[in-house]
Amino acid sequence: MKRKKVRIEDISQDADKQLLDITAEDLMPLPFPCGKTGKNPPVKLLSEEQKKAYECSLDGVLAVGIPKPKSKEEEDKLVQSFLNGFKKLLSQEDNWTFWQQLMLSLESCVSCQTCNEACPIYLASGEQEIYRPTYRAEVLCRIKKKYLDKGGKFFTKLTGNDVELNWATIARLAELAYRCTMCRRCAQWCPMGSDYGLITHELRKLFSQEMGIAAKELHALGTVQQLKVGASTGINPEAFRNIIEFMEEGIEEKTGKEIKLPVDKEGAEILLIHNSGEYLSWPENPEAFAIIFEAAKISWTLSSELAGYEATNYGVWYDDVQLARIAHKHSEVARKLGVKKIVVGECGHSTKALVVIADRILTGEANIPRESALPVLEDLVCNGKLKLDPKKNDFPVTLHDPCNMVRLMGIVEPQRRILRQICPQFREMEPHGVDNYCCGGGSGFAIMQSMNFPDWRSAIAGRMKVKQTLETFQDVISPEINKYVCAPCSNCKGQIRDLFNYYDLWEKHGIFYGGLIELIVNALVDIKEPYITWEWH
Ligand code: SF4
Ligand code: SF4
Repeated sequence: MKRKKVRIEDISQDADKQLLDITAEDLMPLPFPCGKTGKNPPVKLLSEEQKKAYECSLDGVLAVGIPKPKSKEEEDKLVQSFLNGFKKLLSQEDNWTFWQQLMLSLESCVSCQTCNEACPIYLASGEQEIYRPTYRAEVLCRIKKKYLDKGGKFFTKLTGNDVELNWATIARLAELAYRCTMCRRCAQWCPMGSDYGLITHELRKLFSQEMGIAAKELHALGTVQQLKVGASTGINPEAFRNIIEFMEEGIEEKTGKEIKLPVDKEGAEILLIHNSGEYLSWPENPEAFAIIFEAAKISWTLSSELAGYEATNYGVWYDDVQLARIAHKHSEVARKLGVKKIVVGECGHSTKALVVIADRILTGEANIPRESALPVLEDLVCNGKLKLDPKKNDFPVTLHDPCNMVRLMGIVEPQRRILRQICPQFREMEPHGVDNYCCGGGSGFAIMQSMNFPDWRSAIAGRMKVKQTLETFQDVISPEINKYVCAPCSNCKGQIRDLFNYYDLWEKHGIFYGGLIELIVNALVDIKEPYITWEWH
């Protein structure tokens, strides 16, 4: 039976009724060998206790997990603070960072719906209305018209364009702000240049800065922990120094090379900052950087200062104030060491936050040169500064384009020039480059582990990436052939690891994943044993 279409005004009605039930039948079919349905239900159902405790009437998924208010007064207070925050978003003075882009995006849309076809979440979900890129913006526009524009209440009565500003609307909007990866594919397709990733960002900002509502992995365990302890992974400076020792041992064990990792070396050319998730989950990546930088005789250092060894800046996804605090910390650490520039390792959002967005905040002396590691690696590989043997990488390799670095920053070619040179069986995904689909872990999703949200991001947010991966490797799909998805971004790797687990892509089909620099080290002539070990982690 065809389900009833969810209307814009439904967001404020029937507070206890779920707007959408996610079923396996609705989801976009996947290519062989995954097929049509997959896991059923695709997203674990919430327990009765969870339903009682948290607001879940959007789609039965909990990303933020907002506790249910205890009284009508509490609800009313929250509704009022939403309206106050919304006013600030629409004020140039209060929202100087993104006011212009927000207003242009809200006011230019001509409702052509071209963006729907660009959005991986809308398509993968089986075209569910609530995930349509413009759905949340239409809700906001109706609230603005009715509650903030002059004569709004009178006109909305006449037009019947009614969205009630009540707690149900706010609670559903808060979860809906976490059903978009901010990949901004929709913005690239929109003939008017409206940016629904930006609208999602602004909405999250309103919830965080005005109401103290944010995903705990981004705020309490993310930026707050980073500024207090040193890293969003909880690594403190002492633990970082221990990790450095383990890494030196690890490099010697794997390659026979004795490398002393430079830490806090004043006056070095480059301060290299990694997403600290690399040290815990994929130490082979920062180890590979050390091997390559030493082989190329680069003057570089790591930092053991608070936040100096952690490139992440989750503020970029939900809170301008937190973003600014972390960007300043990064600049301060680099200036204290007297390095010439900061190079950000394989992490997309960190690169965008520090190299591009921080330009609005880091002025004067704080504006130290900053760049992505990818062009640095391109120079080393493509200008013959390393001795490499491509035959060592003779297995099928494809490339995932991290949205933040590729579509949003234009770093498109360096990683492909490297792969074309060192991987004889390199093949592109379709679509790729600036048209590529998000891995489904963007905007913080990759680290968000609470309740049944990881199921949602595998079943829906990352579904398009699974489709692309399977299509790319159809001719070599046998599990006997090891295949490699190169993802030069820490958060993308986290999401891809979870996706491949959810769909059994490594176990059953031999599809592995990893970073870019590991392939470079794997091709180094003077390393005897393969650097890529095909051990799942
Ligand atoms: S493509 Fe642009 S103009 Fe068309 S509906 Fe989407 S946001 Fe609006
Ligand atoms: S930013 Fe990406 S996920 Fe969000 S609405 Fe646009 S296309 Fe969809």
